[in-house]
Amino acid sequence: MNFKKSPIRTAVMIAMVSILFSLIVIVPFAVKTFHFIYEPVKLLTNFNKTELNENFIEEYNPPTQTIFDVLHYNIHIELIPESKMIKGDVSIIFTTNNPNAKEIDINFYDNMNIKNAYLNDEPVDFKREETIVKFIPKEILKDTSELKIIYEGKPKRLGFGSFCFENVNGQNFVYTINEPFYASTWFPCVDKPDDKALADIFITNDSSYVSLSNGKLIEVISNNSKKTYHWKTYYPISTYLITIYSGKYKSYCDKYISTTNDTLQLCYYALEDKFEDAIKDFSDHPRYIKTFEKIFGPYPFMKEKYAVAEFLWQNGAMEHQTITGVGSRFITGKKFFQDMLIHELSHHWWGDAVSPKTWKDIWLNEGFATYSEALYWEYQAGKSALISTMNSKSGMFLTGTLYNPKENLFSSLIYNKGAWVLHMLRREVGDSSFFKILRTYFQKFKYKNASTQDFQDVCEKVTGKNLKFFFDQWIYKGTGKIEAEYNWDIIPVSNGYKIIFKITQLQNGYDIYKFPIDIKIYFENDELEVKNFYVQSRESKFEFITKNKPVSFELDPDKWLLANFSQSK
Ligand SMILES: [Zn+2]
Repeated sequence: MNFKKSPIRTAVMIAMVSILFSLIVIVPFAVKTFHFIYEPVKLLTNFNKTELNENFIEEYNPPTQTIFDVLHYNIHIELIPESKMIKGDVSIIFTTNNPNAKEIDINFYDNMNIKNAYLNDEPVDFKREETIVKFIPKEILKDTSELKIIYEGKPKRLGFGSFCFENVNGQNFVYTINEPFYASTWFPCVDKPDDKALADIFITNDSSYVSLSNGKLIEVISNNSKKTYHWKTYYPISTYLITIYSGKYKSYCDKYISTTNDTLQLCYYALEDKFEDAIKDFSDHPRYIKTFEKIFGPYPFMKEKYAVAEFLWQNGAMEHQTITGVGSRFITGKKFFQDMLIHELSHHWWGDAVSPKTWKDIWLNEGFATYSEALYWEYQAGKSALISTMNSKSGMFLTGTLYNPKENLFSSLIYNKGAWVLHMLRREVGDSSFFKILRTYFQKFKYKNASTQDFQDVCEKVTGKNLKFFFDQWIYKGTGKIEAEYNWDIIPVSNGYKIIFKITQLQNGYDIYKFPIDIKIYFENDELEVKNFYVQSRESKFEFITKNKPVSFELDPDKWLLANFSQSK
């Protein structure tokens, strides 16, 4: 997911900055100047932040849900935009490790009226709470059971919107955005990111509307004035990534040939008045996909598709599996929001294929997707693009740790500090280990879920190093960033100059950060030298000899550290 500031103001700024930069750099660089302007913002307009806490999640996903494993959802949704209602018919096929379970706890908001419910084709009793339905089995559960729920109602708009009926130019438009735990506002499910399942999704609407969802389009069934679109996933999906969009879409499809010579269906969808602009904005996807295939490994949903569709969530974009939604106001025809598209595409490796084990691990989604933007630009335009992208993502962060950020689930702490932590990990372990870590982690956990500990385990296995200190200081325990002062003494000696260089850590968020640091030395005779040291204590002192006399020093010239260094008086 990606949030943006007001696009109108930023568009003007982009235009100004682009013009400025196009005067001094070649044109392809001009389009990426918006790195300097955009930052995800904490735009939680509809969010009841009190829900983003552990107590809510513990009640929403009680331990009783862990005895079940959902294998498959068959989701039939009929849209009735005139009355902002839906009619649902959902089957949940699941296994259990406790056949004697006294209840089956399914997430489903109580505004949805359950007409009938069946367990293995027999009517089943149930009790309702606000966000959970407790189904009461009459007998021992089979190895694999099917729970079928027929319902109707007006979906609630919670979180980022969850289920939205909109009207645009006199036409109806429907979209969903469930993240993190609002899928159950419109279909019954075990709404946990780590209970992935396969899904068949059937959307019925008036026949003049095109209905989109995850996976592959199997068929479009016409029935008088209605049309049903049947979409099917061949790869498991987390409930927060299941989506439907329905509107008067126009489409453009192309084929992408992958690095493994497979053919991927690549489709763009937009409403009539944005269609031409969308085709222009989305047209670089083959290059984005190729770049990530080269860095991370093959696109993980090859048998399905990759699609980008306009939707009416105007706060940004969302990485719904194989069908990224992009808010209309970010479609400009001028490629102003390339980073947003790159970010959402990268989530198909980080978030969709490898999904978080719990919401405490959300930085594994957003930190990775944000760093992927920098990796993309580095791949296209080299080290200076990497540095400028990372610089655009520094700044202040909310207090709190990267792991388990509580109510700051979608803050710049998670997006930008998350990206910086990967950048610093890369410096800590070196490029070849870092990219091996990414590829190994992807291969090991794709179509599954990973925790922060799982990621640490991969890092330690690949490098053969104990990285507990790194994960503690940047992810589990440390808050904020490095704040340090430095100073030096220069003493003439027989063979040149002896330098005594001191760095003192001052931050409150963590006692002693340990990190490699480059010090760039500028000499009297205009020569330069970069020396590397490793800081291991609150007060560090490094002594070395130089032939020429230094005139100044620059710490971390290539911006590998999330740190503020200032020269002490
Ligand atoms: Zn994101």
